[in-house]
Amino acid sequence: MTSNTRVVVIGAGLAGVRLARRLGELGTPALLIGEEEHRPYNRVLLAEVLAGRYSPEVIALPAPAELTRARVTGIDRAAREVRCADGSVIAYDTLVLATGSNPVLPPLRGLFTPDHELPEGVHAFRTMDDCLGLSKAVRPGVRAVVIGGGLLGVSAARALAVRGAQVVLAQQSERLMERQLDPAASRLVHRHLGDLGVEVHTECRVRDVRCVGGAVRSVEMADGYALDADLVVLACGAHPRVGLARAAGLEIRKGVVVDDELRTSDPHIHAVGDCAQHDGTLYGLAAPAFEQADVLARLLAGDAHARYTGTRSLTRLTLTGDGSPFDLAAFGETEARPGDDVVQLTDATRGTYRKVVVRDDRLVGGVLVGELGTVGALARAWEGAEPLPSDGGPLLHLLTNDGGS
Ligand SMILES: Cc1cc2nc3c(=O)[nH]c(=O)nc-3n(C[C@H](O)[C@H](O)[C@H](O)COP(=O)(O)OP(=O)(O)OC[C@H]3O[C@@H](n4cnc5c(N)ncnc54)[C@H](O)[C@@H]3O)c2cc1C
Repeated sequence: MTSNTRVVVIGAGLAGVRLARRLGELGTPALLIGEEEHRPYNRVLLAEVLAGRYSPEVIALPAPAELTRARVTGIDRAAREVRCADGSVIAYDTLVLATGSNPVLPPLRGLFTPDHELPEGVHAFRTMDDCLGLSKAVRPGVRAVVIGGGLLGVSAARALAVRGAQVVLAQQSERLMERQLDPAASRLVHRHLGDLGVEVHTECRVRDVRCVGGAVRSVEMADGYALDADLVVLACGAHPRVGLARAAGLEIRKGVVVDDELRTSDPHIHAVGDCAQHDGTLYGLAAPAFEQADVLARLLAGDAHARYTGTRSLTRLTLTGDGSPFDLAAFGETEARPGDDVVQLTDATRGTYRKVVVRDDRLVGGVLVGELGTVGALARAWEGAEPLPSDGGPLLHLLTNDGGS
């Protein structure tokens, strides 16, 4: 790869913008194509915009040098060109897919109007437009139902409650944020949302969305119970956006399959971020998207040794209400298997909870709620995957000493 080939990046989200910026710094400018009308922004902070804590300008990303606003509708691999919705055609030597994810739209009766649109009052929560639409609709006293109790649903429920909405969160499984948290930490998040006035229903499956005149009026549960709703937020996860790659005949499993050089099954096309599947893993998180973008920038700028070997990524969430912020961090496996060592410290009065799981002298996971002083030291021990000293003492030390972080 020489540095004067034309690199075209599809998608001006976290991964695409990071890649374009890094390439610029390394003297290999790229053309970035993004379909969203807004200046590129940090998607992770959308809930803070919805909560009214930040304005949209505050979460804008440093503008990349060459940004074309267009939606790419097709890739011609033989001609090495991409086609855009406005009819333009852009040639590439190297193409990078950074197309991110689409929100999962759950199979609910009544979710779409006859024109295949979401009814008025029903919103996904993925883009700045979703966020501004929700922000416009939320007023004190508005009845909002959030469907989904993962990271996204918890963030949306908290933000709407902070704006004065009466929020019900409907979670299909038995607890909140089950992908990241163990049961004790889930209970603390549940309690915290309750303190903010959010009514949390677990093991609660929404079946129907009821509309009058094209606008949502209520949602109905599987057990027939109906909840009045002026606003419904769909927070049921995301799936990689692979339509372009599939139509171009690239290898897809759940995401676009990439190797350690982030190359797809076509050596001229790479993929990074939420749309990419590396070594069987779909991350759907910001830290791996950044790491992949950084590695690919080095590769495309001529560092033949750069490789991506996976990311050990920590999930962090801050829930700020009227009172003090409620922080949590989780990484790796937060539930122990038989034979694992577990150290756990709970302070019910302060609402703090800390736990680490150790297997064969290695830290394999942990969760911290309300007290994050040790998170830096723990993350380093986890990321390094080095054996822990075997006398047992350091485990408690890891939980109680902030290690200068
Ligand atoms: C509300 C919310 C909160 C989140 N919170 C966290 C968090 O706390 N921690 C965390 O790690 N992660 C979080 N995430 C996930 C994180 O935002 C994603 O992992 C990250 O944005 C992935 O970056 P990406 O560049 O791959 O995709 P995206 O940021 O989604 O960007 C993809 C871009 O590509 C554009 N695009 C797609 N197809 C085309 C096309 N054909 N033509 C032109 N443009 C196209 C899209 O419009 C989009 O702008 C959150 C996500 C959301 C929605």
